[in-house]
Amino acid sequence: MAAIRETILRAGLEALYVTGGHVWLRPLVGGVGVILTLHHVRPARADAFQPNRLLEVTPRFLEAAIRRVRLGGLEPVSLDEMHRRLVERDFRRRFVCFTFDDGYRDNLRFAYPILKQHNVPFAVYVPTSFPDRFGELWWLTLEAVIARVDRIGIVIDGRDRRIDCRTVEEKRDAYEAIYWWLRSLATEEEMRVAVRDLARRYGVDGAAFCQDLCMTWPELSQLAADPLVTIGAHTVNHVRLAKVTADAARREMQMGASVIEAALGRRPRHLSYPIGDSASAGPREFAIARELGFATAVTTRAGVLFPEHCVHALALPRISLNGEYQQPRYVRVLLSGAATAMWNGFRRVDAA
Ligand SMILES: [Zn+2]
Repeated sequence: MAAIRETILRAGLEALYVTGGHVWLRPLVGGVGVILTLHHVRPARADAFQPNRLLEVTPRFLEAAIRRVRLGGLEPVSLDEMHRRLVERDFRRRFVCFTFDDGYRDNLRFAYPILKQHNVPFAVYVPTSFPDRFGELWWLTLEAVIARVDRIGIVIDGRDRRIDCRTVEEKRDAYEAIYWWLRSLATEEEMRVAVRDLARRYGVDGAAFCQDLCMTWPELSQLAADPLVTIGAHTVNHVRLAKVTADAARREMQMGASVIEAALGRRPRHLSYPIGDSASAGPREFAIARELGFATAVTTRAGVLFPEHCVHALALPRISLNGEYQQPRYVRVLLSGAATAMWNGFRRVDAA
């Protein structure tokens, strides 16, 4: 299934590129700016089973994307500047914001030198449990479980299931099936319990990922000292806010900001909703973010920014630079707004 969806997306991007659709659609669908979503930036690995590869791009691709942005006449700006332009309706020049979710150490090691060299402002959204070293990167725990075993026993919807995962193909299918089943569970807690249970039974140390992959507070403070860098909030526990109670969602958003302020000396004005799709953050979360005083908040709903977004600054769309599509020509198509306009049926704002 994953392979089919990928082929369709890739075909769509290719079609927009070769037909020049991205060029003639751009004035209609390009909007006033783009917020890009990235996660890991690190050299490619050879492993055949990498279900989370969509969350990483190579340093070389990041550099190509920056070049593409500049060639396209877009101006890289900070989140504060993006917010100012939305509020003051200053849309003289199309802009782009580079944003990195989760605070991975590779951002400091590989992305930062490139962004610095090209003088590109960027934001890092940090779930505070990651530098505090008690975060659960459950999607990596699931990957590690499937990578190491040939067969998984799991209870799905009350039924005993045994899922073969001997070959790479089987592992990919198993990941896809279990991942989306987890995402479909009614509460965040049910999902976490299911993953913890898998980790225990198959001998994976879920706590190690934080330690190995995420920046420490001193590393974050080194980044935060650079005026190019904005540190944004991303809750405490990286929970899908719509899957917890309103009180818990508020606490996650508020505490995430307070802990960053205590550690780095400045309260974040910008928020990223974890996972960020419409099942993870909706009108309730947008309202809480507004009450808590955040200036902007980003989702992972796909799209470019239009002037109308000035009244939806707590529900901003982004465009993901997906590791499965690391071609500069795809960046060109994505920046044009054409691909997301097609996916969204030409609807400009999705804040419901
Ligand atoms: Zn995240």
